[in-house]
Amino acid sequence: MARLIALVVLVAAGAATFLGLRPPDPVPADTPASEFSAERAFPVVADIAREPRPLGSAANARVRDDLTDRLTGLGLTPRVESPLGNVVATLPGTAPTGQVVLAAHLDSVPQGPGAADDAAGVAAVLETVRALRAGPPLRNDLTVLLTDGEEAGLRGARQWVRDGLDRTTPTVVLNHEARGVSGQSLLFRTSPGNAGLVHAMRAVPHPAGNSSLVAIFRLLPNDTDLSVVIGAGRPGIDSAFVEEPEKYHTAADSPANLDPASVQSQGSTMLALARELGATDLAPLDPTASGLPPQPDAVYFPLGDVLVTYPVAWEWPLAGLAVVGLVVVAALARRRELLTTRDALLPGATSPLPLVGAAALAIGLWQLLLVLRPEYADRPFLDRPVPYEVATVALAVLAVSVWHVRVRRRVGPCAAALGAAAPLAVLGLLAAAFVPGAAFLTTWPALGLVIGQALSVATRNSTAATVLAAVPSVVFLAPFAVAAFGIGGVATPIPAVAFALLGLPVVAVLDPVGRRAAALPALALVVAVGATAVGLA
Ligand SMILES: [Zn+2]
Repeated sequence: MARLIALVVLVAAGAATFLGLRPPDPVPADTPASEFSAERAFPVVADIAREPRPLGSAANARVRDDLTDRLTGLGLTPRVESPLGNVVATLPGTAPTGQVVLAAHLDSVPQGPGAADDAAGVAAVLETVRALRAGPPLRNDLTVLLTDGEEAGLRGARQWVRDGLDRTTPTVVLNHEARGVSGQSLLFRTSPGNAGLVHAMRAVPHPAGNSSLVAIFRLLPNDTDLSVVIGAGRPGIDSAFVEEPEKYHTAADSPANLDPASVQSQGSTMLALARELGATDLAPLDPTASGLPPQPDAVYFPLGDVLVTYPVAWEWPLAGLAVVGLVVVAALARRRELLTTRDALLPGATSPLPLVGAAALAIGLWQLLLVLRPEYADRPFLDRPVPYEVATVALAVLAVSVWHVRVRRRVGPCAAALGAAAPLAVLGLLAAAFVPGAAFLTTWPALGLVIGQALSVATRNSTAATVLAAVPSVVFLAPFAVAAFGIGGVATPIPAVAFALLGLPVVAVLDPVGRRAAALPALALVVAVGATAVGLA
């Protein structure tokens, strides 16, 4: 019964988390004029993304002319900045402390029409300006920056930062991108010293993205226009939607494949940030321009529609608390004779094994696929990745369940559960040291498990406490594990390790024993083999 309750609670937590990750429904065109409507923006996307428009092409020139006309129609006075063809326009504020820049790139790669990358961003900028014009004027200046030659080496952005960006005007650049054709628009990168920017993010109605993505972005072979801005020591926020990455930079990045909900997510986020920053004193946010002292960094992540933020300086004490708490609970459990010192050491010392095992199995699967399907080597994102993703998850479950069953048989459920929390707590410490902003991903799951085990030891009743204990693991690690497929597809072992991290606490809570314990690894193996076969077929 207890296990059934555990399963129901965790599935419900997972379902609620995933529902929260879906982009909002597109807002229809008859909504009030001061709101962002994807239905109003979409015809502009379709018009821009009729054909590829790389730097210097005739289509590129057509789109530039079209965009200057549209900006003029919105009451702005656009100018085309040579030698490249950036389109720039400014809407003066009532009492400006600086300027908020809405940026997107008007060019595309030659291989495809770039509906998501970045016609969607350009159309969202226009629709946001239209919505802003329908409301009361902003205090700060608003600058529209549609760069050219982004796909040819961020050339438009380099020109604008060199020639167009005033050194003494406090400026915040909001840049808009895509690395897929669907999903929520993620606030995935900020300039360093982001406390003020993160404060402004709290105005976003359905905030998405978190401070761990900043570190992950550095692992990717991608760059955006914001890199040039940050390189010049100026502040900004990058946002992008990233799902279905196999369509990115291909002919499939078309208006037909673009999810209007992603345009809504991008636009709602942009409009909220523009209004918030448009009313904010920008001087403290841009120390390079204002000469004010730099701001600290902040951790940020959404829980439902609330953006949780706290100083990065808190990551160390929180991660330390998880490690100390783990040791204290183990000592308490020992005093209550739920485990011996040796019992506690075995799962603690061997808990990295399921992570290493999951990585090894995932690498093995990919090598096998390369032998059977050599053409996969050219592209990390397969056209139909789902069967292989299922196989990857099953391999992670296999690694975790084999470890859990063996360890639990030797040392019992309490020590096994504490062992499952150990890698999460240690990774929190490592992240606090080496990946600032990312420690929350494993620290809160570890703290949840520690508190759950403490309650379970204190009351000698494990049901309610251990179930609640694993909810933070699901809330934080399930979206991370799924998103890990977007980093390098199934070609990297990162998703397998992420699912093993999620699987450790979940399997510990469900705590299969007896026949069920033997069945779980077998079931995982069957699913892995079956899903791989389906993928190959
Ligand atoms: Zn782009």
